[in-house]
Amino acid sequence: MQLYNSLSRTKEEFIPHEPGKVSMYTCGPTVYHYAHIGNLRTYIMEDILDRYLRYSGYDVTRVMNITDVGHLTSDADTGEDKMLKGAKREKKTVMEIAQFYTDCFFEDCKKLNIRRPEVVQPATGCIDEFIHVISSLIEKGFAYEAGGNIYFDTSKLKQYYVFNNFEEEDLAVGVREGVEEDSNKRNKADFVLWFTKSKFDDQELKWDSPWGIGYPGWHIECSCISMKNLGEYLDIHCGGIDNAFPHHTNEIAQSEAYLGHAWCKYWFHVLHLNTNSGKMSKSSGEFLTVSLLESKGYDPMVYRMFCLQSHYRKSLVFSYENMDNMKIAYNKLIAKIATLKEDGEIDRAVFEEQKAGFVKALDNDLNTSLAVTAIYDALKAKTNDATKLALLREYDQVLCLNLLEAAEQQKTVEEAPAQDAELTQKIEAMIEARRAAKQAKDYAEADRIRAELSAMGVTLIDTKEGTTYRLG
Ligand code: AMP
Ligand code: ZN
Repeated sequence: MQLYNSLSRTKEEFIPHEPGKVSMYTCGPTVYHYAHIGNLRTYIMEDILDRYLRYSGYDVTRVMNITDVGHLTSDADTGEDKMLKGAKREKKTVMEIAQFYTDCFFEDCKKLNIRRPEVVQPATGCIDEFIHVISSLIEKGFAYEAGGNIYFDTSKLKQYYVFNNFEEEDLAVGVREGVEEDSNKRNKADFVLWFTKSKFDDQELKWDSPWGIGYPGWHIECSCISMKNLGEYLDIHCGGIDNAFPHHTNEIAQSEAYLGHAWCKYWFHVLHLNTNSGKMSKSSGEFLTVSLLESKGYDPMVYRMFCLQSHYRKSLVFSYENMDNMKIAYNKLIAKIATLKEDGEIDRAVFEEQKAGFVKALDNDLNTSLAVTAIYDALKAKTNDATKLALLREYDQVLCLNLLEAAEQQKTVEEAPAQDAELTQKIEAMIEARRAAKQAKDYAEADRIRAELSAMGVTLIDTKEGTTYRLG
């Protein structure tokens, strides 16, 4: 499989450290609010990667952190803690909102068919590991104490900016625009590993450490959680593109300084989902969540398909017009699948030929839009329905668009009115038979029919104009 690696800025053949096995780390959500559909775009595309690796035969172990401490409103170590801000907004404790929004996140994931990783680790559960790695970085001369905080010394590295060709100064200024400088730092790019002092001293969660009572920085969380669960050599690390700098850059700096060797081989970054007016936001404009889409009549699968129709390395614009088009496309597709019947043997030659196109698309840096095209190719193929259904079942192991389930559901809905019509006819015939029995003064027969209808859940209502009924 060819996969674009942000580290080399090229497509590379994906070769994990251990044949047949893949260790995969994903930056999890900061649980101070609902996830917006932009965040979820990243998780959908990571899910496709995860599922495709499994489909290709790899034994994948996937780890995700839950950021419940240390992520400040600016990624550059200044600003208020996002969790604390969320707790204040809702007049709850940090742990209460962490639990609530973690649950909401996984509910959204379930709706979107995003697989839950094998390990989901809240950062607050790994404080000892953070302290251990920070202590070691101090010992090795990669970290220093200043003004009560522990900082990583980026000047000790041969190369700090690993993901880009930008000039160091430009980047430093870009990230810190409008943010005051921390005078404790020896170098502009240095970052906090452990806070004991910050402008916002009302931090709710604090722990004892060799450097005083405080809390970890955000970046150290992912390094430690990954190394604890996946060892010294990580195959692939994922996240949204905004995480590449400074978060992932800092993760590499501290992990490799701690380990003394290269750490993660492949970096997978998903580009952003934006709105017509720009950046997706949780605080201004419409807060776009999966539940909001559902309330407007869009099945979560329509959103998943919308994401799959564009490449993960291209930014994507959300609009209701796009969603409407996708809804029509999805419904048409499902309606088409609903007409297919299990009509005999699968034609193996056609199956293999068609499947090869699907695999080729995903093998080429996860080209999901071509993989979706493979669904339409299967439907158009000159073969029987059984082969088409087998192909769709195969593809949906990775795409997870509920293709067959939704088609099955549609069939049930379509059959329901027919059943209703049959039932109505039967009830009306029985009411007529009862009327005739009553007219013939055969009251025993009339009562029997009433009892039979009652057993069917039909309640008769006799009026001057005749007999009507209600169900239940
Ligand atoms: P957060 O909860 O802020 O830590 O972000 C969770 C994930 O969503 C991270 O991988 C981010 O890089 C990613 N992300 C943030 N904004 C967007 C966006 N507009 N589109 C796609 N991914 C995003
Ligand atoms: Zn992370």
